[in-house]
Amino acid sequence: MNVDPQKEQYEGFTGRLYFIGILIALAMLLLVTRLWILQIVRWDEFRAKSTSNRLRIQRLEPPRGMIFGRDGLRSDVVLADNRAARDLLFVPADCDRDPEEICRRLNEMIGIDEAALLKKIRKSDKENQPHRQILIKKDIPRSVAGRVEEYAYALPGVFTLVRPVRRYVYGRTGGQLLGYLSEVNRKELNASDGIYRMGDLKGRSGLERLYEDTLRGSDGRMLVTKFATGVPQLRTDPYGNPYVENLVDSYGHNLRVEKEIEPAIAGKSIHITLDIGLQAKAEELLKGEEGAIVVLNADTGETLALASSPGYDPGVFVSRRGSRERMEILLGKPNRMINRAFQEVYPPGSTYKVLMAAAALEEGIIDENTTFTCWGRFHLPGVSRPWHCWRRSGHGKVNVVDALAFSCDVFFYEVGQRLTVDRIKEWSTKLGMGEKTGLDMPGEVPGLIPSREWKEKRLKPAHPNEPWEYRWYPGETVNLSIGQGSATATPLQCAVLMAAVVNGGYRVRPYLNEANAQKPGERLLSDKTVSLIQQGMLKCVVKGPPAPSGTGHAAYIEGMSIIGKTGSAQNVNLKHQEQYENDEDIPKELRDHAWFISGVLDLEPRIAVSVLVEHGHHGSRVAAPLAKDIIEYFYASRDEQDDPLLMTQSASPATGGDRP
Ligand SMILES: [Zn+2]
Repeated sequence: MNVDPQKEQYEGFTGRLYFIGILIALAMLLLVTRLWILQIVRWDEFRAKSTSNRLRIQRLEPPRGMIFGRDGLRSDVVLADNRAARDLLFVPADCDRDPEEICRRLNEMIGIDEAALLKKIRKSDKENQPHRQILIKKDIPRSVAGRVEEYAYALPGVFTLVRPVRRYVYGRTGGQLLGYLSEVNRKELNASDGIYRMGDLKGRSGLERLYEDTLRGSDGRMLVTKFATGVPQLRTDPYGNPYVENLVDSYGHNLRVEKEIEPAIAGKSIHITLDIGLQAKAEELLKGEEGAIVVLNADTGETLALASSPGYDPGVFVSRRGSRERMEILLGKPNRMINRAFQEVYPPGSTYKVLMAAAALEEGIIDENTTFTCWGRFHLPGVSRPWHCWRRSGHGKVNVVDALAFSCDVFFYEVGQRLTVDRIKEWSTKLGMGEKTGLDMPGEVPGLIPSREWKEKRLKPAHPNEPWEYRWYPGETVNLSIGQGSATATPLQCAVLMAAVVNGGYRVRPYLNEANAQKPGERLLSDKTVSLIQQGMLKCVVKGPPAPSGTGHAAYIEGMSIIGKTGSAQNVNLKHQEQYENDEDIPKELRDHAWFISGVLDLEPRIAVSVLVEHGHHGSRVAAPLAKDIIEYFYASRDEQDDPLLMTQSASPATGGDRP
């Protein structure tokens, strides 16, 4: 075969060419794939890396949302806002003199720890970070800041940084309701997904806690170029606005702002129904006692006062004052952290007779003509031990009106036996006893109205084969009929009960945030029931003679239709008290809690008031006068405000602090 050697050579060449081509193609493919992986697949990862090398987000803190309340007829009264706190700082790079001299001058002027400051200055020097902002003193008073400003020429390198700090305008008044702030902990920091930073404050109780997300606002940000590992150092003008043009890092490198500032968005404000003047009055009345006063608008459930004693000033938690004061508030006795109006329970005592009367009238067990005779004691068939009326000599023949007015126990023992525990429980639930009222605050407790199921559930596990241990006995119904035994309630629940009596039989849901206003639910009590209970409770407050005074006559105000019911919540076994001849001799811790629940029928707005004084012993002597003072104050404050000249006389804000 004749073979063309050229052709053979050529074919061999093209073969190699193909081979090389394929190799090149493969290599290209590899490169492209690699590039694709780098550019597309891992692009985000690389971008993040390179960005973090170059750019840094400088955070701008938002001011916290304000809390507004009312004062009499005035609305939009500032209860919590933000003041401008001034931190005193030192920047070595800005100081052209001997830092020791500056430290000495500062100490002479405002008293600082010279040695500690010098140590910090030397440290930044050693680490070559001359632009680091060294904290001299946190949150200095305005007078001190003024003096530093005045002598600025002699204090090169010293400047103030302004930041917003929470201020509680009325100090301790309403403090427990507003709540307090404290720094986030490590765990919260990790779980917050970047929302919180080290040193941030967070609402821990009350409204500050409940509305943390609303009040906090959102951070402002600016992107700055970062040329080194130094930390950006922010400066502010006297109003707290950041100086963007002079932004440097702690090495002194200028940082260029890459992106316009995204300003911090202040937290949203909330408006609450609290009447700060009334709250101040209620807290003043409770001074030196442990107890609570609740005032509700009986028709709407607006919470006008929710006083608890002792309270605390939440400003202590954000102030420059020491941590000892904070620890005392948190751990001291008596407990200041609980609001006794809705976070503590007490036996409702005789105030529960209002509910008993309502249930019995609605169930048709009694009517206006039903009478029972009180001989001072009550017997159950087969039980040798009698139950006594508080009035040992007895009340004689009483109807429901007199039973409420004079608080006859025997009348309600009789009523209770006819109602049975089941219907008592049913009406308690309807009228808001033994369950949370739904107040828009954290930590409300439900109290307890016992039932057959409750007792069985509680005791059967321990005594499965002894039914007598967990069975409900008629004697327990006797105790429940006058609000004793296992029954407990909060002062707020009693106010909700009173509201229904005042407003004609509607259960209201108490609320503090104006945004949570709700229409009352269905009507629970008939006109006739409401009218009879009101008659009894009016008679309770009437001052005799000619008719005998009711147990609540200390709350009587001439010309006002005030209804009321006293109560003494048995605190310890009566035997402990009986060893003392006079009430005055009984040690305070053994005395009963004093109740007075009341309402006003003929003035606008109609209000329901609930007063509890721990160990006050007698509702009639201790709690009723407080209700009277509160009612008087409430309507007087609204009258006065018709006259603009007197408008300034209501609650005065606590002094101190200034607005940014
Ligand atoms: Zn009686």
